[in-house]
Amino acid sequence: VAEHVPTAHWPSYVRVNTLLCSLADAAADAAKRYGADKVALHPVVDDLLVLHPECAKTLFQWERVKEGGCVIQDLSSCLTAVALAGGAGDRWWAPPPETPRKKKGRKKASPDPAPGAPAASPAPQFLDACAAPGNKTSHLAAIVNAPGAPRNLVLGLDRAEARVKILRKRTALLAPGGEVEALHADYLNADPADEMYKDLKGILLDPSCSGSGIVSQPDRVTDAEEEKDEAQRLAHLSSFQLLALLHAMSFPQVARVAYSTCSVNDEENEAVVGKALEEANGKIEAEGERWELVRPRSLDGWARRGRAVGGLTEEQAGCLCRCDPFEGDETNGFFVAYFQRVKAGGRAGG
Ligand code: SAM
Repeated sequence: VAEHVPTAHWPSYVRVNTLLCSLADAAADAAKRYGADKVALHPVVDDLLVLHPECAKTLFQWERVKEGGCVIQDLSSCLTAVALAGGAGDRWWAPPPETPRKKKGRKKASPDPAPGAPAASPAPQFLDACAAPGNKTSHLAAIVNAPGAPRNLVLGLDRAEARVKILRKRTALLAPGGEVEALHADYLNADPADEMYKDLKGILLDPSCSGSGIVSQPDRVTDAEEEKDEAQRLAHLSSFQLLALLHAMSFPQVARVAYSTCSVNDEENEAVVGKALEEANGKIEAEGERWELVRPRSLDGWARRGRAVGGLTEEQAGCLCRCDPFEGDETNGFFVAYFQRVKAGGRAGG
C-alpha cells in the first residue's frame, strides 16, 4: 500500500535558466510579482528559487516561465546536473583561468564567446543519454555555458520519438543559442569510438525508472498479484539501468558520470551503483584506471545521503544524495550518484 504524502504545503521550485536570465533579475521579478517574503534562494542549488506554496496557482502565467527564463522544476530533479557540472562550486570542465604574467607584450587572451556563438567544436562535450523531456538537459547546458565559460555543446538522446519532439520544443525555448542538440537515438547503440563522441567529457544518465519517489500523483493500492508484477518490473528496470550505467563508464574519453533516478528503491539505486563499480572496474583496472564514487562538492550541503547497501561502504554511501518525501523532504523521491574516472591507486577529488 503506497504511503500517502500530502504535498499541498510544499514550496514551488523554479529554476532560473541562466542561459536566458540572471538569478538576480529572476529573483527580483519574482519578489515584485509575489512579494519579497514569498521568495527565497535555495541554500544548496544555486540557480533555484523557492516560492511560497500559494504561488503555484499562477506560476504558469508568469512571463518569465512562458518565455523560458524560468523553469518550473522540482528541487530533486535539479540535483543531477549540479552534481555532474558542479554548479558554481566545481567547474572541472572549464580550463583553469590564465595566470596573469608580468611580462609586457604577452598574447591577448581571446574574448569570451558572444551568447549564441557556435561551439568551438561541433562534437558535443556532454551527453544527456536519456534526455526527454529535457529539463536536466537544459539545466546542464546552462551550467556549462555560464557567462565567461567556454562554449560546451550538450547532446540529448532519447529513443522515444514522441518524447524527442517535446525535447526539441523545450530546447528551442530554453537553449535557443544552440547549446543543446537533440537526437532521436537509442543511447545503448551509441558507439564510444564514433568520431562524434571524441570530445565527450561527461555523461548525465537519468534512465527510465519505477518513479516510486514521485508522490505528486494520487496513491494507489496494489494487490498481491500486482506486487508480483511489480517485483518483475523492478528486476527488468534495474538490469536496464545497470546496462546503461556500464555503457556510460565504457566511454574511455569520459571523465565523469552522474546517474540518477526518481525512485526510492535500493534495487534501482545503490544496488545498481555497487554492481556497476564492480563490473566496470573489473574491466578497466588492468588499464591502470578505475571509477570511484565522489561526493559532489557542489552538493556538500545536501543532508540526506545514500545507504550502505548493495556492497557499498558507509564512506561510499556518504557520496550519494537522496531525497525522500516519505521522510519529510519537501520534494519528490530521488537518487544521485556521481562518478569520476581516476588513475588506479590515485584519489578522486570532489
Ligand atoms: N532526464 C529527463 C528529464 O529530466 O527531463 C527525464 C528522463 S526519463 C526518466 C527517461 C527517458 O529515457 C525516457 O524519455 C525514455 O524514452 C528514455 N530512454 C529509455 N531508454 C533509452 C535508451 N536506450 N536510449 C535513449 N533513451 C532512452
